[in-house]
Amino acid sequence: MTPQEVVEFAKENNCGMVDYKFLDFVGIWQHFTTPVSEFDEEVFEEGLGFDGSSIRGWQPIHNSDMLLMPDPTTAKIDPFPEVPTLSLICNIIDPFTREGYSRDPRFIAQKAEAYLKSTGIGDTAFFGPEPEFFIFDDVRYANTSNESFYAVDSVEGIWNTGREEFPNLGYKPRHKEGYFPCAPTDSMIDLRNEMVQVLQSVGIRIEASHHEVATAGQAEIDMRFDSLLRMGDTLQWFKYIIKNVALRNGKTVTFMPKPIYNDNGSGMHCHQSIWKDGKNLFCGDGYGGLSKEALWYIGGIMKHAKALCAFTNPTTISYKRLVPGFEAPVNLAYSNRNRSASLRIPSTSNPKSKRVEYRTPDPSCNGYLAFSALLMAGLDGIENKIDPGDPLDKDIYGLSPEELKDIPNVAGTLQEALDSLRDDHEFLLKGDVFTEDVIDMWINYKTEAEVNPVRMRPTPMEFALYYDC
Ligand code: GLU
Ligand code: MG
Ligand code: MG
Repeated sequence: MTPQEVVEFAKENNCGMVDYKFLDFVGIWQHFTTPVSEFDEEVFEEGLGFDGSSIRGWQPIHNSDMLLMPDPTTAKIDPFPEVPTLSLICNIIDPFTREGYSRDPRFIAQKAEAYLKSTGIGDTAFFGPEPEFFIFDDVRYANTSNESFYAVDSVEGIWNTGREEFPNLGYKPRHKEGYFPCAPTDSMIDLRNEMVQVLQSVGIRIEASHHEVATAGQAEIDMRFDSLLRMGDTLQWFKYIIKNVALRNGKTVTFMPKPIYNDNGSGMHCHQSIWKDGKNLFCGDGYGGLSKEALWYIGGIMKHAKALCAFTNPTTISYKRLVPGFEAPVNLAYSNRNRSASLRIPSTSNPKSKRVEYRTPDPSCNGYLAFSALLMAGLDGIENKIDPGDPLDKDIYGLSPEELKDIPNVAGTLQEALDSLRDDHEFLLKGDVFTEDVIDMWINYKTEAEVNPVRMRPTPMEFALYYDC
């Protein structure tokens, strides 16, 4: 839509409010709202001022004025507020230079797309993320009648085997068997259906929805792939809608990667392909029906995987998911159809669907940053013809320590991911997509706000182990 069309759209839908949204660096949508009486085409030229010092990791207080520039192509009607509300996603610019802000994740995604074009390798990068999530009861509604109650029971986090279950939990999915018996074992179908319909109401194309493996109300709703920037926008709408529909039904949703000890965590597998002039560059006659560019792209992701983890798995709890035995890939290997490898080539006979699925990322990431970093690693692979080595068509979980010793791993902790990023980020700086300032800020922010406070805090498990020592 053009600015003029957006103004018309707001009128046609009787909007009383306009909501401006943007994603902070950590990955939480921020917003503020104006009455529609303050809204006209000029806002798209002039922008709206806000205080950048109040956003985590952004501007210092003495230099805190920033401008939101709404993107008219993102206009939608927000399905939640009672007053009909036009919603716009914004870019962030510096009010003095009027240049894009280097720490705006959406700007990074725009620069990544521009960098792809500038290489001549392709014109569009497609991403299809598959965010998994857990649905828990909202204690405010004290509904204790179904499977999610079991999950929020606080003992669950420490010892979840061999204890008596109470109350009667008939039809609760058996351990690791949530994927995917019908109702009544699947008690979430109505909630997922409502989520799907609200997602569709804002134009998000949904391909499928199902219960996931974990017993405690784990779900997956799959969106159709889209180009990098648009998929970044869509992922934010996705999380926003999933959480708000849950709350409307007395539930809460978490995208944290490992809420339950000893059960599957939540991943966000990312399907990827690069296209040029309407043709899928990843389709070819190499291994798994891939082109040499696709294999080099895999080589780039494998080479930079530990540093990439700082963006694809950016929380301390990301690494509680990345352990063997829970379908979360730990080893860096690629394979045709093999779900124990971090890079899977889904089988498809349609050349348009040929793609690479990277299974390491999780939904705690900021989509704009994760997709941009993955694209930059893959492009580095193509530009430098990085050989991914031989595929590994075996069940990696079943390999002996001897067989595993030459297979590299993804990062084992957030600290290791940040250290790797410090040592390996040249590939992200090309085309000024990420800047040194952004890399430094991210490493410092994550270390001070997350790694250290988590490291220094005694945990319930340590009480269980050591209290009596
Ligand atoms: N939940 C698994 C993970 O953590 C993935 C399960 C699946 O194959 O969809 O990645
Ligand atoms: Mg899944
Ligand atoms: Mg998948």
